[in-house]
Amino acid sequence: MPIIVQKYGGTSVGTVERIQAVADRVVRAREAGNDVVVVVSAMGDTTDELLAMANRIASVPDPRELDMLLTAGERIAMSLLGIAINARGCKAASYTGSQAGIITDTQHGAAKITEIRPKRVIEALRDGNVVVLAGFQGLSEQYEITTLGRGGSDLTAVAMAGAIGAEVCEIYTDVSGVFTADPRLVAGARKVQVISYDDMLELAAAGAKILQARSVEYARRHGVKLHVRSTFEDSPGTWVQEMSEEQMEGVLISGTALDVEEAKVTLDRVPDRPGVAATVFRALADEGINVDMIVQNVSHDGATDLSFTAPRADIARLDSLLDRVTKEIGAPRYSIDDGIAKVSLVGAGMKSHPGVAADMFDCLAAEKINIEMISTSPIRISCVIRRADGERALRTVHATFGLDTPADA
Ligand code: ADP
Ligand code: ASP
Ligand code: MG
Repeated sequence: MPIIVQKYGGTSVGTVERIQAVADRVVRAREAGNDVVVVVSAMGDTTDELLAMANRIASVPDPRELDMLLTAGERIAMSLLGIAINARGCKAASYTGSQAGIITDTQHGAAKITEIRPKRVIEALRDGNVVVLAGFQGLSEQYEITTLGRGGSDLTAVAMAGAIGAEVCEIYTDVSGVFTADPRLVAGARKVQVISYDDMLELAAAGAKILQARSVEYARRHGVKLHVRSTFEDSPGTWVQEMSEEQMEGVLISGTALDVEEAKVTLDRVPDRPGVAATVFRALADEGINVDMIVQNVSHDGATDLSFTAPRADIARLDSLLDRVTKEIGAPRYSIDDGIAKVSLVGAGMKSHPGVAADMFDCLAAEKINIEMISTSPIRISCVIRRADGERALRTVHATFGLDTPADA
C-alpha cells in the first residue's frame, strides 16, 4: 500500500471542530487505499502561549524545562486527533516524538535529527493503524526530550516521510500553497505550481514562514517530494521538488520574503586582529544562536565595527553573552537594534541576469527606503531596512519584478 505523510499546522488543528475536519480528511485518505501517517502541530497559538508563560517566570527559561513544556502542545493535538479518527471507526494510534524514534542531539530548542528509528511506526501501520505523530519533538541520545526549532513539525513530517519511504509528504496549512510573497502581506501574490528545493530553501531561510528552512534542506537531501496545500479546500497546492534546467527555463524570480523576526547587533570598535571574529562567533555558536548577515567595516586606527543579524527571540540570551564577550575582546560597546526587517528576492535565474541587484536597490530608493545591510547568495539578494518600511519594501520589490497578478486575471 502506498504510504502518505500528511502534516497539519497549528491553525489547521486550532479548534476541536477543525480537528474533526482533519480527522475526516485523514479517514478519506485511508479509505482511498493509503497507509497514512499524520503529523500535527500544537493547536492554534499554543506554543506561543506556553512560551509567554515561561517568559513571565524567567527571561531566559531553563532550556531543558522549556522543551518539556513546549512539547506538551503537540501531545494534546495528537491525542485529540487520535480520539477523533478512532471515533470515526478508523483505527488510529498516536505517538510522541520519542516513541516514534525521532532521535536528536541535545541542543534544546533547536535540536538536530541524528537518526530516525521508524520500527514502531512501521509496525503500527502494519497493524492497520493510521499513525498520528506529535510534530516538533524528539528524544536525545541522552534520553532528554528536545524540540526541533520553531516550525519544526514540518521537519518531523519530512524526516518520517524519508525514513518510511512515503510517496509524498503533504503539508496542509492555512494558505493554498507557496506564493510569490506572503499572500497576507501582498494582495497580488501568485501561487506557484512547482518550485525547486534550492529556491524554496532560500525563501524559507529568508523568512517565508510557509515551510521551516531545515525541513526543506532535509527534503532536498533525502529526495522527499513536498506538496504544500490548503487544509480548507481541495485544490492542488505547490510541489517542492527537484527541477530540471528545462523546467527552470524562463523562471527569473521565484519569490520574495520579508523577515521581521531578526535584530541587528553592532559591536563598536572591535580590535582589528586575528581571532576576534572567531571568538565572537564561536561564543554565539556554542549558545546555539543562529547568525545570519555579518558585516565588518573598514578598519580605522586598529579598530572596526562589526554588525550581524540574529533572531529577536534570542535577544535576552544575546545580551548576557555579549556583555561577557565584548569585555573579553576589548570592545567598548555593543548595541542591539530591534527595529529592523529584511526583504529578500529569490530566484535561480538571477545567476545569469546581471542587473537584478541594481533593480532591487533602485526600487527601494524610489520609495526612499534606506538600505542598512546587504547580503547575497548566487540566487538571493537580501536588504536590511527599517521594520516600519518592511511591508512597503516587500510590495515594491514584488511589483518591480513583475510578480503581481495582472489586474485582469
Ligand atoms: P502552519 O501553522 O500551518 O505551519 P505557518 O503559519 O507556519 O503555518 O505558515 C503558513 C503561513 O506562512 C501563511 O499563513 C502565510 O501567511 C505565511 N507565508 C509567508 N510567506 C509565504 C509564501 N511565500 N507563500 C505562502 N505563505 C506564506
Ligand atoms: N508548534 C511549533 C511551533 O509553533 C511547531 C510547529 O508548529 O511546527 O513552532
Ligand atoms: Mg509552520
